[in-house]
Amino acid sequence: MRKKIILILIFTSMLFSGCTKSDVDQFMRNEPSSVGNNNITTSEKVVKNVFAMDTYMTLTAYGNHAENATKAAIAEIERLDSLLSIGKEESEISCLNKTGNLILSEDTAYIMESALTLYEQTDGAFNPAMYPIMEAWGFTSQNYRIPEKAELQQLLKLTDCDKIHFHSEDKKVELGMSGMMIDLGGIAKGYTSSKLMDIFSDYGVTSGIVSLGGNVQTLGSKPDGSSWRVALQNPDGSNDYIGVLEICDKAVITSGGYERYFEQDGKSYHHIIDPFTGYPAESGLKSVTIVSADGTLADGLSTALFVMGLSKAISFWQENSDMFDAILLTDDDVLYVTEGIQKLFSSPYKQNIITKENIINDK
Ligand code: ADP
Ligand code: MG
Repeated sequence: MRKKIILILIFTSMLFSGCTKSDVDQFMRNEPSSVGNNNITTSEKVVKNVFAMDTYMTLTAYGNHAENATKAAIAEIERLDSLLSIGKEESEISCLNKTGNLILSEDTAYIMESALTLYEQTDGAFNPAMYPIMEAWGFTSQNYRIPEKAELQQLLKLTDCDKIHFHSEDKKVELGMSGMMIDLGGIAKGYTSSKLMDIFSDYGVTSGIVSLGGNVQTLGSKPDGSSWRVALQNPDGSNDYIGVLEICDKAVITSGGYERYFEQDGKSYHHIIDPFTGYPAESGLKSVTIVSADGTLADGLSTALFVMGLSKAISFWQENSDMFDAILLTDDDVLYVTEGIQKLFSSPYKQNIITKENIINDK
């Protein structure tokens, strides 16, 4: 597994005009926003960096309550990590995976229900039962290997989410097949960023932004009333970016095969699995960014639309355009933007606009 950790200095080499270090609030990369300086506090701005959920996180809040709010937010991240982590033996998810049935806590139940709803809505492209496949590829242990096709075929039988029985009233979940195991990694960070917005609000913060491994969520607007500017990473690993989004009160969450992967014999194998084949999804998309007020939904959909590929992703958006917007980048560097955020997104790329009527225009 490789995580690209590129120092903040990259901001100084932004490649297209109009975007400089100073006018971007959050850059979507797996990196701390200030290397070697873990906490920055000025009279009205608090920035804290933490490493949790296997990724770098940066929390920024403004105003008198920012210090207490960011402290509480970090405690919340740690609490959720200890519920949801598949890497922690004593986490709730590990316990469920060991026993096959459990009465879930409120948070885990909410995420499980959201994951199962997404499984249905996306026709199985989002699948929260991918753990056995992730394990076979070594993504859970970092002992990477390429499983045999027959092994994957066997394991795929354990990913049938119709066999998961979830009772929302008493939050009881039963995994209906022995060997079935849950991995909420495709949705957990989005739920977490949504919760952080609630905590910021509870503490009286009205202006804040968090980045959980490049997954960004914003509260309100910037203290001066202007929109947050979120730069989207170029998946090719170069120091430029594919565009800048200007948003308020939204999550901006990206999935791409470039985030976690290993290489063997010159080929790279990434961590987003096509639940229909058991292999890393090769759908023709390099990255999918979802913009939505609901962080949980945005995270789940970024993974799902990445698996679906361009034409299914377009149809899915057209049927659900009230729920989210999307930015899709294909393997051949063609950029598609849904019409809801067209005016909020600036990019050096030519943009194809996806409209509800299936009209795609070059801009
Ligand atoms: P990241 O967590 O790096 O931001 P994603 O949100 O796309 O990226 O989530 C990828 C993670 O989701 C994987 O590491 C794995 O835990 C899980 N996962 C992999 N494939 C799927 C899938 N088809 N549906 C749901 N979860 C998946
Ligand atoms: Mg996701």
